[in-house]
Amino acid sequence: MLLPENPQPSPGKIAVKLKNKALASVRTGDYRIYENSIEHLSTPGKAGSLAVLFDKKQKFAGAGLYDPFSPVAVKVLTNSPKLPPVGRELFQYRIKEAFALREGKIPGATDAYRLLHGESDSFPGLVADRYSENLVLKVYSSVWFPYLSMIANLLEEELPLLENCVVRLSREMALLPETDRYGFSDGMSFCKGKAAADWEAKVLFHENGLEFEADLIRGQKTGFFLDQRDNRFKASTLARGKKVLNLFSYSGGFSLSCAKGGAKEVWDVDFSKYAIAESQRNFARNLQYSSIKNCLHKGITGDAFEVMTELGKKGELFDMVIIDPPSFAKSAAEKEKALYSYGRLAKLGAALLRKGGIMIFASCSSRVTAEELFPHIDEILTKAGYRRDVFAETEHAVDHPAKFPESRYLKCQYARIF
Ligand code: SAH
Repeated sequence: MLLPENPQPSPGKIAVKLKNKALASVRTGDYRIYENSIEHLSTPGKAGSLAVLFDKKQKFAGAGLYDPFSPVAVKVLTNSPKLPPVGRELFQYRIKEAFALREGKIPGATDAYRLLHGESDSFPGLVADRYSENLVLKVYSSVWFPYLSMIANLLEEELPLLENCVVRLSREMALLPETDRYGFSDGMSFCKGKAAADWEAKVLFHENGLEFEADLIRGQKTGFFLDQRDNRFKASTLARGKKVLNLFSYSGGFSLSCAKGGAKEVWDVDFSKYAIAESQRNFARNLQYSSIKNCLHKGITGDAFEVMTELGKKGELFDMVIIDPPSFAKSAAEKEKALYSYGRLAKLGAALLRKGGIMIFASCSSRVTAEELFPHIDEILTKAGYRRDVFAETEHAVDHPAKFPESRYLKCQYARIF
């Protein structure tokens, strides 16, 4: 047992009569029922109440979980009477589906990846990541509080080597009264079902043969940017003999991959001194690879825009520049500003590249699509007198499926800059 059984009584069941528009969206497989598309609720629901959905003629339309704290009042989990009922059986069925999707597709010597990716794995508002024998559950919706133990324990059934579990709450979730009710607080950790008050939650794991450390409680995301694994590998295949600048480097994922791939020099830039220190430690962990031992590694703590400007003034030049910034557009209103910042980064990056050097440009803002971002970068660079030969474009890795258009957040382009 990975998490103690939940001692709370079940949050009960409610009947939800839907307006026609919502019915149509449930039929097409959408997981969102907004408050204003509900015609009638049989009783006031609680976080995670089983919500059985009906049309106006009382015909079954689907089922999901009720969320009193979100404008998306019901998270739909099934629209077919042929699927198991919502609860243990359906969760197990969905977990098996998610495992089947990933089976045989996670690269060798890799024991950290996403087991459940929110709505695209039919768990809207819930993420489950594996880091070796450790599980992180990240909760973005209150519907999951009553079922967290059940889900952790079902995941353990599929992956019996799991030993520890960390529960992380989104900022909004951490403020809810439900967290007290169910006894979960942000960063709470368990070792095989027992609260692990003194466990550090700093764990070692592997990605494509490299060993990394992640802090599962305090680290960004769930400790590591697992979604960039395939891009890091691709970068490693391009790095031989190159001098690489890795901007927004975090704990050095791209840098170590490039060093393993034979880069002669790798520079990290991040404004978090903890990230830079973590990257140094991660380099020290992998010196069994002669390519890493022979790679000159530098860490610069600072704002990427300022550091790039400074490097430009000093005339530093690189063969490869990796630009993987955090999301610049947290809301639709910030989109223009975000595009402007991406454009600035591309221009600063191009100025630091030798002719024909490689720029890897990634964005994780779901509000800025690939179709908006890359033509914008093209335009900015063309105006500045550069030519950009794009030779690859990537999207979501297999363990981060994007079933809905809004779930597509990650995009990355590889280009030679002349
Ligand atoms: N490429 C990384 C993930 C990048 S996440 C990987 O593969 O693991 C974004 C990182 O950018 C975070 O580590 C954050 O600390 C850093 N960051 C955010 N804004 C920054 C800025 N203006 N300058 C430098 N670093 C920044």
